[in-house]
Amino acid sequence: MEIACLDLEGVLIPEIWIAFAEKTGIESLRATTRDIPDYDVLMKQRLRILDEHGLGLNEIQEVIATLEPLPGAIEFANWLRERFQLVILSDTFYEFSQPLMRQLGFPTLLCHKLEVDGNGRVVDYRLRQANPKRQAVVALKSLYYRVIACGDSYNDTTMLAEADAGILFHAPDNVIREFPQFPAVHTFDELKLAFIKASNRELSI
Ligand SMILES: [Mg+2]
Repeated sequence: MEIACLDLEGVLIPEIWIAFAEKTGIESLRATTRDIPDYDVLMKQRLRILDEHGLGLNEIQEVIATLEPLPGAIEFANWLRERFQLVILSDTFYEFSQPLMRQLGFPTLLCHKLEVDGNGRVVDYRLRQANPKRQAVVALKSLYYRVIACGDSYNDTTMLAEADAGILFHAPDNVIREFPQFPAVHTFDELKLAFIKASNRELSI
């Protein structure tokens, strides 16, 4: 039995915080872990900025609902689900990803959770566990699934290494250079072929 594990942001949908910053024009929300390496400091800053702009979960979801999956992503996800069981492993939050997951037909998603008070204010966040993508692959392997994983960035590499086969998609050059053991592809057509190649079954396009 084979299972496909896909990263979400940068693979099927845009980077949510960056797209959200563009839609709202709030420049300071563009900061990522490249600017502020400590994730907790970064998230606390993001929540403070949302507060300052009076953006609660409802307003945030309204903005995110205007975003769309990357071109070709819906067709690709459907193609993959006809051939593999699909689990999305992401470092996003259920509440943020929901409008985009709706457009993808709500595939199984393992990610993190926000804490929202009765007025819709985002007061805190809760990470599901440490090293969540890799741990999910470990768990699926304990169920005797053969895991093929695909992601675009550093936070995916432990997942790719733990999987039976790992694929880089849309990855920046420095990640491709640093992890030459993973095949790197840039279009959904190439990604389909990479999954077919990584599979131990006879699959066709
Ligand atoms: Mg990503």
